[in-house]
Amino acid sequence: MTDTAKSPTESSHEVGPQGVDAPRQTDNASPMMAQYLDAKAAHPDCLVFFRMGDFYELFFDDAVKAARALDITLTRRGQHGGGEIPMAGVPAHAHESYLARLIRQGFRIAICDQVESPAEAKKRSGKTLVRREVVRIVTPGTVTEETLLESRAANNLVAIARVGGRFGVAAADITVGRLMLEITDVKHLDSVLARLDPGEILIADSLRQDADIHSILEPRDSRVTLLPAARFNSESALHRLCTLYGVETLDAYGTFDRCEIAACGALVGYIDLTQQGHLPHLCPPERRADGATMEIDAATRRSLELTRNQSGERSGSLLATLDRTITGPGARLLAQHLAAPSTDPAAINSRLDAVQLFVDDGNLRIDLREILRAIPDMERALSRLTIGRGGPRDLAAIRDGLSGAQRLSTLLAMPRLDLLPDAVARAQSRLTGLDDLMDKLARALSQTLPVLARDGGFIAPGFAPDLDETRTARDEGRRLIAGLQHRYAEASGVGTLKIKHNNVLGYFIEVSPTNAEKLTAEPAAQTFIHRQTLASAVRFTTTELAEMEKTLAQAGDRAIALELDLFAQLSGAVTAASDGVAEMAAALAVIDVFASHAEIAAEQGYTRPTVDLSHRFRIVSGRHPVVEAALAGSSDTFVANDCDLSQARRLWLLTGPNMAGKSTFLRQNALVAIMAQIGGYVPADQAEIGIVDRLFSRVGAADDLARGRSTFMVEMVETAAILHQATPRSLVVLDEIGRGTSTYDGLSIAWATVEHLHDRNRCRALFATHYHELTALADRLKALTCRSMAVREWKGDIVFLHEVREGAADRSYGLHVAKLAGLPNAVLTRARTVLDTLERSGQRENDAAALPLFAGLESEDTTAPVPEPGPGSVPLGSLPDEPADAAAEDPQVAAIRRLVAEADPDAMTPRDALDAMYRLKKLISEGSDAADQAD
Ligand code: ATP
Repeated sequence: MTDTAKSPTESSHEVGPQGVDAPRQTDNASPMMAQYLDAKAAHPDCLVFFRMGDFYELFFDDAVKAARALDITLTRRGQHGGGEIPMAGVPAHAHESYLARLIRQGFRIAICDQVESPAEAKKRSGKTLVRREVVRIVTPGTVTEETLLESRAANNLVAIARVGGRFGVAAADITVGRLMLEITDVKHLDSVLARLDPGEILIADSLRQDADIHSILEPRDSRVTLLPAARFNSESALHRLCTLYGVETLDAYGTFDRCEIAACGALVGYIDLTQQGHLPHLCPPERRADGATMEIDAATRRSLELTRNQSGERSGSLLATLDRTITGPGARLLAQHLAAPSTDPAAINSRLDAVQLFVDDGNLRIDLREILRAIPDMERALSRLTIGRGGPRDLAAIRDGLSGAQRLSTLLAMPRLDLLPDAVARAQSRLTGLDDLMDKLARALSQTLPVLARDGGFIAPGFAPDLDETRTARDEGRRLIAGLQHRYAEASGVGTLKIKHNNVLGYFIEVSPTNAEKLTAEPAAQTFIHRQTLASAVRFTTTELAEMEKTLAQAGDRAIALELDLFAQLSGAVTAASDGVAEMAAALAVIDVFASHAEIAAEQGYTRPTVDLSHRFRIVSGRHPVVEAALAGSSDTFVANDCDLSQARRLWLLTGPNMAGKSTFLRQNALVAIMAQIGGYVPADQAEIGIVDRLFSRVGAADDLARGRSTFMVEMVETAAILHQATPRSLVVLDEIGRGTSTYDGLSIAWATVEHLHDRNRCRALFATHYHELTALADRLKALTCRSMAVREWKGDIVFLHEVREGAADRSYGLHVAKLAGLPNAVLTRARTVLDTLERSGQRENDAAALPLFAGLESEDTTAPVPEPGPGSVPLGSLPDEPADAAAEDPQVAAIRRLVAEADPDAMTPRDALDAMYRLKKLISEGSDAADQAD
């Protein structure tokens, strides 16, 4: 291997003070250390796991890094070049869990294994140093072990290539074998990556330097692997791909652009490299059709929490709420659908027909899901078997998958289901056809299976006569040894004599020290040969026992060899049928997804949406699936709301108090569109959705400090993207845009944004705002309509009704919400005074006409410069100063203090004093009333 793949994260794990770089020079090294140094020199970017007996050892700087990352002991082993060699090790039998932790921290690992036994080494070279080779490189995008993968999430490896101005993106989940290609441009690359959510991204080191690419990849830096640009050469890529698929040209699979071929070639080459020549099963490349799926950029995915919540967890996401799939492949397919909802009404309706079958026929759904429960992850078992990393349990997974598929097919062939929906019929037709393989595996495999083939015992009796014979010989040998023990005990007169076995001595005869003499005295001494004396036992052997052991070991070795041979044959049979197995696994996943949609629809009362190519967007009694699920079990119930963005009223301006449910309403409509377009039922009484080609969802005010952008900058960059990209088919959801800057700047931007969405983008849009001034736009923008969140005032407090009503809200109730949030009374009182002053002076927020800035501004005039508000336009200059300590003092206490301070007892008549007393009492009782109300 000559390529050097460099992981930035790995390189960011800087060498600690005790770090010792592995020397390149092997001249003075011991033979084993020379072997290590060769492996390390070939894989300088990886931690080398060097197999020594029962451990994988790491040396030099690798040991230092691994000890720190895994919190394991750093020791020393011998000397090299005049210094001690740092060493750390992990037990080989548990190494996968350590790999998982290292991978998660961004390391790459080269596994250097012993590839021959000491006996073979001796035969080959006369020396006992076994040959070791790097058998594979473990990277985040190329892991296949069950323990290193999340069973319910895909793990995409993605390669990006640029040819001319076009970007080719190749994506493969090697645990499934699907290979997808697409072309994009720099504007859309971010959203393509957001959709694919790669575990690892391959890119040429030269392309990574590009400024645009840099900003797209920066937040994903820990997943980027740099490759030399030569790896992306499209001509050698074409050659590589043709060789892989055994074809002259790729035309049979579609017409691919050079940039796609370059990306695909680099991807396949990288898999080859990391798997050291054991390529997994890879389906021919598929071209992702342009516009075939709803475009959803990274910010929208985050804002809608489609597959992860804001903190990156699966829980609380739409996916977690919807997912009722039973199998791993089903869960991964659902996640894939959710990441890329379809824009093809025919395909969506075909999925909906399938879901409807399982909604309408509850018993069928229950039976079907029962069968799915017994079906293991065939996809991943298949990929492990094809790359030679499978075990007997993977064969069993295929066996059980095939038989489950057969049972499912029989279930779907019941006479009452004479007319299956197309999508189900298509899936069903792929559930059979591998009976021979299934029978063979069923006959071949035992009931209980070891993890590793080399442990043996996984082939069922009766499957292979020669194996049975060898096993009989081995078992016979064991019986003979038991007989021998009996004979020796009688002959020696030591009734407690035992024949035992351990890994060091093999078989031996054991007696207690007091009985040992009986075996060392003549004539017994002629037969028994002393081997070991321990405090509690003396051990012997005999020529006969040694002979018997040899025969037994031979039979045992032969049995294992035969089983390994059979394992290879069975794996070969599975690999030969890999296309069929993969298709069957995919069909099972599809059915699991349909049934999952049906299950949640039945459970939560979802309905089938109507999806077509119109521009309608009409939802009756829609709900937010995640908020509704979160409220389940509490005393609150979710309040359903309608939404109609059909052409005449395609832009809704939503006002209402904080906490009234604006954001929830906005998002629920976006989620309903997604759920409909993945082919699922939706949380509404009725839903008519004209295909949404692009979905945008933005919430004002979210810092992206990692990328060095302020709140407002992020808001504006995202708003710009929407205004440039939204089409009449798009759905735009904007929540409080313009809040990140001063009132007038923000209001002006929000104003112009609404006009642009209405006049230019002409998309369907929901726009929530606290700028009540915007509602004045309803008079001029024909398709804009005002809605507000209903609240009820009660004893000076507000009650949120969570209902969306026609018309604009009259105020924001911000102070009420602030009170609910527990702001100190002093702050609330002061804020009320400020608000009164503002309102008295005509600046009341919903009084747009009072704002000189917006009075008479016509929408055609959007390009006219917006006048700056004059000084003093917010008339707070006249506001009485707040007493210096007022913030700390209750207003009632302040009033009492003032009254007492102003009173001059010497100048008071008795009547004045009595009046003052009355005033004091009144102040105090007002104070306690107010406190009662606040309680
Ligand atoms: P802000 O303006 O402060 O962002 P908001 O108006 O956007 O507030 P949301 O965040 O949508 O309000 O909702 C506040 C809370 O109200 C939610 O967390 C949810 O628990 C509840 N809620 C929202 N909508 C509904 C509804 N339709 N039915 C029941 N509860 C709801």
